[in-house]
Parts: sequence; structure tokens; C-alpha cells
Amino acid sequence: MSSPQSSSLAYAVRADFFRPSPVRAVFDISMREGMISLAGGNPDLGVLPLAELGEVAARLIAEQGLEVLQYGAGAGMAPLREAVCDVMRTAGIDAVADDILITSGSQMGLELVTSLLCDPGDVVLAEAPTYVGAIGTFQGLEAQIVHVPCDDDGLIPAELERTIAEVRAQGRTIKMLYTIPNFNNPSGITLHPDRRPVVAEICARAGIAVVEDDPYGLLDFWDAPLQAIRSFDDSVVYLGSMSKIFSPGIRIGWVLAPRDVRDRLQLAAEATTICPSVLSQHLANTYLRDFDWRGYMNRAIDQYHERAQRLDAALAAHLPASVRWTAPHGGFFVWLTLPAGLSAEQLLPLAIEEGVVFVPGTAFFGDGTGDDNLRLSFSLESPDRIEEGVRRLARVIAAQLDA
Ligand code: PMP
Repeated sequence: MSSPQSSSLAYAVRADFFRPSPVRAVFDISMREGMISLAGGNPDLGVLPLAELGEVAARLIAEQGLEVLQYGAGAGMAPLREAVCDVMRTAGIDAVADDILITSGSQMGLELVTSLLCDPGDVVLAEAPTYVGAIGTFQGLEAQIVHVPCDDDGLIPAELERTIAEVRAQGRTIKMLYTIPNFNNPSGITLHPDRRPVVAEICARAGIAVVEDDPYGLLDFWDAPLQAIRSFDDSVVYLGSMSKIFSPGIRIGWVLAPRDVRDRLQLAAEATTICPSVLSQHLANTYLRDFDWRGYMNRAIDQYHERAQRLDAALAAHLPASVRWTAPHGGFFVWLTLPAGLSAEQLLPLAIEEGVVFVPGTAFFGDGTGDDNLRLSFSLESPDRIEEGVRRLARVIAAQLDA
């Protein structure tokens, strides 16, 4: 017998705070025959050496099965914690394995940090716009999101100070600044290097934790590594991920935090998952240790770069001059601003009819604003399909402007 459609369970109040992600909502549409998807943020895994990885996985189970199929350490395995310290060195971060907690993706790290720091009603400051998955986490844990204005160089330090003062004057408690300084999802914008120590200093002075989410930092088109905010201030909580430099399916991320924070995060993590997947950790560790992972990543980056250039050129060629967009030099996303009077949410069904899908800007604000924006992803479609997708989008925008 199948499960009933509805039950008479009495839900907790917080059950209503978990909402469907607008990105996941367009996922099924993206899969439709002939649809061009500029919506998702999936990495291109076509560069991966699948046969060799398959041999590694088979060997791990055949030769070390009694270990890799067993429970493991709550903090994650030591060699992987060391390996991710090496990865972070590129961003100027000097850390040791004991500072690291391995998580099931950086999404879990974000959830743990938020649950450790935020009581219901506490304020989280975040870029305007910010990552839709972070908004879901904050809302699920009943934290309130207050956006800090940004320009083409990311968070504006003076606006950060003004926002802190304004929120505090309202009698509200600010617990953390959540920031994606590199190739922000969704805006593609990067925090200017000069602003990084300033942002850290403002938050330190105000007694606000900085949570730096950095899944895209290594995906720099110009191979000019950006120094993490954490490199200027050891108290910053830094979230890293294997999702964009290897595979999101293995669900491996990490948190780097001051020792007392890290220890508490581990207790919270153990209460949720006992330990991160041991098999996935071994796979990730072997990939970082024995494979030319930077070589594979660079091949993927070359493709992302080509696609981003094609997207930029297609937008310039096909869209009216009144539309503006960002020009990221890394990551997966371009952020588009429509001319006054147009609504991204109203455009979406028309675009889907035309055979192209994007994510409306409202997904990336906690307060329902952003309807004059849309996020376009260039990570997965081929350059030709990206160009065709923009042609379709341009037709819909032109028709709306004429209407
Ligand atoms: N932070 C940001 C900014 C992201 O874009 C994503 C994934 N889209 C995540 C966190 C979650 O990554 P993970 O797969 O490591 O959980």
C-alpha cells in the first residue's frame, strides 16, 4: 500500500519556515526537451577522468572496504583535513588540520554555523543579492536577513557600517555577516581586494562574526588567486567545498573556524550526521592527493571562461541598451538588470514558452525585492546554446517592452 497523500501530524511551527528553493523549482523545466537552461548552477563534470575515478572507488572498497564502509571520525579524516588546508593556501589561508571540520557539503557547514550563532529573530547581514540556499537556511532557522548594498566591487564598507548602526538602532541583534566574496552567487561580483581587510575590521570592531562562503574562489578566469577575508583575520569562519573543484555529488565541504567554534560545530554535526561519508572522504582525498586536480579544474575553467565570454557577447548583440549585466571574471553567474517596468517573474513563463529558463532575481533577496533582476548561469550549456538562449530571452524582453 502506498503512503497517504496527507497525514494528521501536528507540525512544529518551524516546519513552515522551510520553503521550496526557486532554483530547484525550475530544475524539472530545465530538463524538458529543447529547453536551454541558464538557470542551474551545476559544474561541468565532463572534464573528470571517470574511468580512473571508477578504478579508485572499486579499489577503495575491495582493498579498504572494512574501513571506508565503516563509521569514521566526527571531524572527518585527518589526511583530507590536511589536504583542504593545502587547497586553501592558494587563497592565502594558513591553517592546520585540527582547525577543520569536514561536512556533507558547505551547505551543511552554513546550517551548523547559523544554528550555533543565531537565535530566532537574530539578524544575519548578507550581500544584496545573496545565495538562495543561504536564504533558505537562515529562514529555516528563523534568523532575519538584512541586505547590505553592494556595487561592482562587492560589499560597500560604508554601507556595512551604516547598516550595522541602523539595525542596532532598531534594537535588533546582529550575529553575523554572511558573505560570498568571490564571484558571488548570483551576481558574479567579486569583493575588491582592498575592501577585504576593511570588512573584517568593521565586523571585528562591531563584534559580528564573519562567515565567508567560498565555493567559487579557485574558478578564476585569469588565474590570479584572490586572498580570502580569512587571510586577514583568523577569527573569520570560512566555508570551503569540493563541489565546484571536483564533484557536488560526493557532498564534501569543510569549515575552518577558531578552535572553540570548530569544536562546538563538531558536536552539532555529530548530532546531525554522526560523521561525514567515509567513502566520499576517501574519494576526495585520493583525488586531491593522486590526481592532477588543478589540471582538470583548469580545463573546466577554460570552458567556463569561453561560455562567459559568449554570454557577454550575445547579451551585447541581442539585448536592448536599457538592459545591464555584470561581467564576472570567474564562477558561474551573470546578474542582469531589466529596464524599469519589466518584471523577471512575469518574463519567466514567457521565456519558458520560448524555450529558455533562468532564475528570477527575487530568489536572491530575503525581502521579496529583485524583480527587476535575473540570474543567468553559463556553467553548463555550450557556447552556441548560450547564444541561442540569449536570442530567445531577447525576443521575450523585446515583446514585453513593446507591450
Ligand atoms: N554556497 C554557495 C554560494 C553556493 O553557490 C553553493 C552551491 N550552489 C553552496 C554554498 C553549497 O555548496 P555545497 O555543494 O558544498 O553544499
